[in-house]
Amino acid sequence: MSTEITIVGAGLAGTECAFQLAERGHSVRLVEQKPRVKTPAQKLDGLAELVCSNSFRADAIHNAVGLLKEEMRRAGSLIIHAGERTRVPAGGAFAVDRALFSELITRVIREHPRIELVEEEVTELPEPPSEGESGSITILATGPLTGDRLADALEQLLGEEHLAYYDAIAPVVLAESIDFSKAFMASRYDKGDGDDYVNCPLTEAQYHAFIDALLEAELVPLREFENPRYFEGCVPIEELARRGRETLAFGCMKPVGLRDPRTGERPYAVVQLRKENQEGTAYNLVGFQSRMKWPEQARVFRMIPGLEAAEFERYGSVHRNTFIDSPRVLNPNLSLTARPDIRLVGQITGVEGYVESAASGLALGISIANLLEKGEELLPPRESALGSLLSHLRREDADFQPSNIVFSAFPPLEERARGKRDRRDKMVERALKSLAPYLEVAGVEGLLQNLPARLDGA
Ligand SMILES: Cc1cc2nc3c(=O)[nH]c(=O)nc-3n(C[C@H](O)[C@H](O)[C@H](O)COP(=O)(O)OP(=O)(O)OC[C@H]3O[C@@H](n4cnc5c(N)ncnc54)[C@H](O)[C@@H]3O)c2cc1C
Repeated sequence: MSTEITIVGAGLAGTECAFQLAERGHSVRLVEQKPRVKTPAQKLDGLAELVCSNSFRADAIHNAVGLLKEEMRRAGSLIIHAGERTRVPAGGAFAVDRALFSELITRVIREHPRIELVEEEVTELPEPPSEGESGSITILATGPLTGDRLADALEQLLGEEHLAYYDAIAPVVLAESIDFSKAFMASRYDKGDGDDYVNCPLTEAQYHAFIDALLEAELVPLREFENPRYFEGCVPIEELARRGRETLAFGCMKPVGLRDPRTGERPYAVVQLRKENQEGTAYNLVGFQSRMKWPEQARVFRMIPGLEAAEFERYGSVHRNTFIDSPRVLNPNLSLTARPDIRLVGQITGVEGYVESAASGLALGISIANLLEKGEELLPPRESALGSLLSHLRREDADFQPSNIVFSAFPPLEERARGKRDRRDKMVERALKSLAPYLEVAGVEGLLQNLPARLDGA
């Protein structure tokens, strides 16, 4: 008996996943609420709509998202190859004509002999399979603005503590850009390993100048469907500053249990940075989720002593984003621990961005196809950008937050690198080398040969 595959949501992740499965000979039912129902961010009737920027971001392979795109290109990604066909000039970025892009994806999906596109809003989860029955797989690829009723059903299954409606992302800086003549390593009350946190001490005058800058900084405007009554755990730093000049000094910047080793004194306030990866090549600013515009974040956060020359690997953000607590509710193959017949993919799992969402759809499509053909899942190697992206969903942080692909998510190098550029060169080389055997098992050759004809159409 063949396995019935239903994918809900024909955005970036859903269309990519459907295409990967269909090209490998599997029939897919792809259910999309458009054009009848649209999320507040959507305007077009077609599939795979880019709801904001028309950019797939940096193209250069030495940029983590550039590397991810290169891996997807080699793997025969529909999103990337259709993007190439509809590209518009954008300097070092990979930007597309969003209307042509959506039209092209819609046509490829509609014309595909093994994809049935159903225009309908899904409001419930499928019934659990009865005992001994294993005939269907449902994939939810409904994105950051998943319909309310389906989100409610998911919340009921997972528990409200495992489904978030807003993200609260703190900026990440490269360790080598921190000035350790001002910052010092220590944990509060000397608990932990001693090098768990980097601390940037502020005098009273520096603290007040920082608060002034926070209060004056320009923010990313709220969208009409975003509710500024934030959940307590994701209040932006500038919003906390607005509650009172000393709120931060008594909150995430409180200096208790810390003494500056150079003066032996307790600083007036302190910014703590926590390791992003085991290697300690990147650190996040604890509690510093922010809605400031990116250039403003760079300007204001560089006022912090020790961060004057900080290089940002990721900026902070707070936006409407439905996502699950993947490390606790999702298996490595993206199935729910509570319902292994249901898988989630795309932004709803906690990957962040158009490219990352599509990449997860690609990886899932390949894995399920392998399972159905050869009896085992096929996940991308950990050293690749695809594998590092999925590894983010298994981070052990108590407060899981979405992330773009960043180099600090890659496993540490075994050999020594001479500086940032050399480290990235080596990571890129290792990633592409690890990808080749995976692509061979995934069987991408035929797919790559067929792709131009699929894109050209009937
Ligand atoms: C306002 C906003 C702006 C963003 N801007 C950017 C940006 O500029 N750059 C960037 O890289 N990322 C951006 N993102 C983040 C994210 O990468 C994109 O939203 C991306 O499209 C996510 O891909 P996805 O496939 O997971 O979801 P989507 O592309 O959103 O696809 C989900 C699909 O599921 C459908 N759907 C939802 N619920 C149901 C249902 N119940 N039944 C049937 N169908 C359903 C939707 O109509 C949609 O077509 C933005 C997100 C938001 C919310």
